[in-house]
Amino acid sequence: MGTGMPDSEASPLVAVDFAGRVCTEEFAPLHAEARPGARVLDVYGERLTWHLEHPKKDSEELPKWVERTLMPRILDAMQDRRAVVVFCDGSMYPKPKCRTGAAFRAYRNGRLLVKRGIAGGRGTSYDAEMMAGGMALAFATKQSCETIHVIADNESALKTLLDPGMHGQQLVSVVACRNAREWLTKDERRRIVFHWCPSHEGVEWNELVDEDAKHAADIPLERDECSLAHAQHLLAVQLKADWRDEYRGSRAYAGRNFLRLKAFDPPNHLSSPALQAHGHSKTTMARFCRAVLDHAPLGSFRQRFFAHEPTECPECGVLQDRAHVLFKCTRYRRWWELRGEFEFLLRVSAYRELNGFLTTNESAFSFEDAPT
Ligand SMILES: [Zn+2]
Repeated sequence: MGTGMPDSEASPLVAVDFAGRVCTEEFAPLHAEARPGARVLDVYGERLTWHLEHPKKDSEELPKWVERTLMPRILDAMQDRRAVVVFCDGSMYPKPKCRTGAAFRAYRNGRLLVKRGIAGGRGTSYDAEMMAGGMALAFATKQSCETIHVIADNESALKTLLDPGMHGQQLVSVVACRNAREWLTKDERRRIVFHWCPSHEGVEWNELVDEDAKHAADIPLERDECSLAHAQHLLAVQLKADWRDEYRGSRAYAGRNFLRLKAFDPPNHLSSPALQAHGHSKTTMARFCRAVLDHAPLGSFRQRFFAHEPTECPECGVLQDRAHVLFKCTRYRRWWELRGEFEFLLRVSAYRELNGFLTTNESAFSFEDAPT
């Protein structure tokens, strides 16, 4: 393939090779800052605080929490003469090419000290948030103050900024650790506090830095930068496209008798509609899989593999196959009258209806209802 993207026949190693060649991000897993027992987290853990607990996003409690808990904390920090407060944010624009921007604003005693933004190349929002945090900490640790407050709306970035272990933007963490260590060593009263702050909940400083990050994404870059997470994203996009084509183009790929519900098209590697509906019960999940794969203890299955065993529906006296169970058998309750699977699959809510059928008829597609 001209893009250098591995095709579906390629081995996992080819994918690793692709990610390695496309990604420009560097890592330093054996850096001194990453030495277990000697990390900033190990040595200065008591002087680091994370305020990450908060009500769920989009919940009713969130605005109240912002007003009563978060805002007083931010205002205290902003009024503290011995503290530097940095708000940081990252942005990612999917088009074109997932370009990122990172920005921070630093305040002391309520006054803006500096605002800065950089473009981060191709990456994910997490990459951008990490760059923003790293950049903010680099500035704040050059100041002579007692407390640094880092305020951002990305929880994972706040958690990993001082974690030099292996993760995306690990080098940003290594540099952040080095800066933090240098600053913390100079005075034992010094401490760093990380705060999670929701975006678009009326915290003005967060909105401002959000705008800065968006503008920063438009700054032209001298060379094409690409994070590891973005290279992995490119691989996932290609894999999903290959998978979708195979599913749609080859009857044999999914199995000739696979019930081609719209919920499974295109196939998805991250979430399964079936697990959402039946994941709570092994038996229902099993019946669902048997129905979709046409691999149930039905007469039609026996006909193929155990020809000497009975194959007729005990209730109706005809061959018991999937279509019989779903559309004809008098044993089950159903709220449709259809001639066959093709008509069923055309229904907008076929997937929901199959789920409803399985829940209503607890013995359908189970051994209990096999021909005797
Ligand atoms: Zn029947």
